[in-house]
Amino acid sequence: MLDTASLVNLLAQPKKIVITTHHKPDGDAMGSSLGLYNYLIQLGHHAKVITPTDYPHFLSWMPGNEEVIIYTDHTEQSNTLIADADIIFCLDFNALNRINEMGEKVGESAALKVMIDHHLEPADFDDYRYWNINACATAQLVYTFITDVLHHKELVNADVATCLYTGIMTDSASFRLPNTTSAVHRIAADLIDAGAVNWRIHELVYNNASENRVRFLGHCLVNRLQVYNEYNTAVIAVTHDDLEKYDVITGDTEGIVNYALAISNVRLAVFIVERKDKVKLSLRSKGDFPANDICKKYFSGGGHRNAAGGVSTDSLEEVVNQFKLILPKYKNLLIQ
Ligand code: 5GP
Ligand code: MN
Repeated sequence: MLDTASLVNLLAQPKKIVITTHHKPDGDAMGSSLGLYNYLIQLGHHAKVITPTDYPHFLSWMPGNEEVIIYTDHTEQSNTLIADADIIFCLDFNALNRINEMGEKVGESAALKVMIDHHLEPADFDDYRYWNINACATAQLVYTFITDVLHHKELVNADVATCLYTGIMTDSASFRLPNTTSAVHRIAADLIDAGAVNWRIHELVYNNASENRVRFLGHCLVNRLQVYNEYNTAVIAVTHDDLEKYDVITGDTEGIVNYALAISNVRLAVFIVERKDKVKLSLRSKGDFPANDICKKYFSGGGHRNAAGGVSTDSLEEVVNQFKLILPKYKNLLIQ
């Protein structure tokens, strides 16, 4: 592991830098990556954000977005950048399998790997780690990395602030989750002072949906929601036909699980979606119910206590049945 002074030294001279984040980037993945990008370019670094896959339209407006390279669209160019990089920042993930086939290239690169992350159980692939599971967002960690480790608070300009605010806002579910501490609010206030227009960011992320997406949400809630009151659990299971019927695109399914969690007695909500080649699960929980435990044990996944995900190669119907069979094992934690 590299020590902090050596990293600070390295960053004092312009370097070739790749910033990457997890598959199907969310608001924190894009916000933390572009926040760091907008900081690094001020120091003269040659920085590029490479995402393993595409990401939603409601995240495609942040400063620097036009410079982002999507690996699946520009694989050769990305591979060259990864191989030639001096430093690769790995943001909002902590195991190379979270960046798909890009993981192999990052693993092979001689670049120094810097992980900035807030997920549990990091894998051992990095050379420097700025990691804290108590952070509400990786964007929060990027902020303190810039201000406390690199002592560059003055370089948190409006572009940096806008991206980091977006990451914090989305990963804290709009400042609602238990990890939204007073420190998080102080950072948010600093970011607004630095030029993040909080109400505008909220509009761009949350009031930027297509008509299809809103109608699809209605379909999920009216026709696909199952509530198992005996387990304080709600399930929304969506078929591949549903996705086609409503022309669902990347990002349209994001956040729908939260509507199931809005039911007062529901402690565990799951959104299960039948993709082309797999079934994907997205879990949310209230309080101390460990959603990540279910994902880790049964669905080759993981995540945080209150927000976790996993996958299965079984059919949608089998996954729903399997999920229902798991609930009795967690009855004590669900019924409180
Ligand atoms: P989402 O439900 O928004 O897709 O994911 C919520 C959280 O669960 C993510 O921040 C991530 O930590 C975790 N997660 C989602 N899918 C997976 C997965 O397939 N594997 C692992 N390890 N974590 C996942
Ligand atoms: Mn995050």
